[in-house]
Amino acid sequence: MSLPYGRVYNFSAGPGAIPVPVLEEARDNMMNYQGCGVGVMEMSHRGKVYTEIAANADKYVRQLMGIPDNYKVLFLHGGASLQFTMLAMNFMNGGQADYVTTGTWGKKAIEAGGLHGIATAIFDAKATGYDNAPAFGDLNHTPGAKYCHFTMNETIQGVDFLGDPPADGNDWICDMSSCIASREFDVSRYAMIYAGAQKNLGPAGTCLVILREDMLDRVPSGLPPMLDYKVAVENDWMYNTPSTWSVYVCSLVFKHWIDFGGLSAVQKYNENKAAHIYTAIDGSAGFFKGHAQFNNRSLMNISFTLPDEDLTQKFLSESKAAGFHELKGHRSVGGCRASIYNAFPAEGCVELAKFMGEFAKANG
Ligand SMILES: *Cc1c(COP(=O)(O)O)cnc(C)c1O
Repeated sequence: MSLPYGRVYNFSAGPGAIPVPVLEEARDNMMNYQGCGVGVMEMSHRGKVYTEIAANADKYVRQLMGIPDNYKVLFLHGGASLQFTMLAMNFMNGGQADYVTTGTWGKKAIEAGGLHGIATAIFDAKATGYDNAPAFGDLNHTPGAKYCHFTMNETIQGVDFLGDPPADGNDWICDMSSCIASREFDVSRYAMIYAGAQKNLGPAGTCLVILREDMLDRVPSGLPPMLDYKVAVENDWMYNTPSTWSVYVCSLVFKHWIDFGGLSAVQKYNENKAAHIYTAIDGSAGFFKGHAQFNNRSLMNISFTLPDEDLTQKFLSESKAAGFHELKGHRSVGGCRASIYNAFPAEGCVELAKFMGEFAKANG
């Protein structure tokens, strides 16, 4: 196994892998952006050059995600976690909203939401250890709820809805941090989508927000300006200095996946990648156990366990020695987790599956 620059197979859950050609282009433009004499990190966010970079970020993400014209695109600070608070301040505003909790991030979202109104858990998968997501049609919405929030892909548990919500008149708000742009989505089904950049989009530092325009009518007056979507929109997400470098690299990532063939091609690529590892789990006669129920298996984060703690430690050390890094699971679930975001190479999935098969045979 030999990757460029002595890189390893990086299964990090986040910040995660970035496509090598993107890193190379960013590197080349770091010292002197396309001959303008300064690097991207060193120029005014209001200057002509950066204005064009920002316009490209907007254009490419719209193209990649198929974002309709009645949606605003914003690149905000504070990661996905600040959105937990911001969306509740802007859209619940002392009223009530519904939350669907399928894992750790959804729990954080409802906790933050509950500080700004009545946040009702209309579904919580706690009883089964957060191993599944409901069918959208089975949810009972609270009359008068301002929105329904859910986490498309629970990064720690590896549980994904694997489909868009229905066009049923509910205002669905979705945390897509760990699966955005990993497959095709119908943006028109959502009132708002948001995603911290550091899983599938680029470097940490910015959070992509895709917001249906009419939601802005609901924003109350008197919010702190940095937490007000209307202020963000009116200032083209530059009320203050944005994460200029992060947004720039995100724009290269968007372009990279457009050139790859768009999200239908990305989806096929990711389905194939994940299938290698799930096949290794399913073919191990119970040696490896996947955490998520079959119908909610994430394409991005594969959480699995081994028969006991000693074997888990042995697997982690031997896999690392073989060049597979960051396979340790989150402490709340234990075991192992292979995060295989868009930029994680397919060969790494093939090789890990092979390694898992050999390990199970030798230790089962
Ligand atoms: C990583 C992650 C977050 C937190 O993102 P920050 O940018 O660190 O705030 C939230 N939700 C999901 C689904 C995540 O994967």
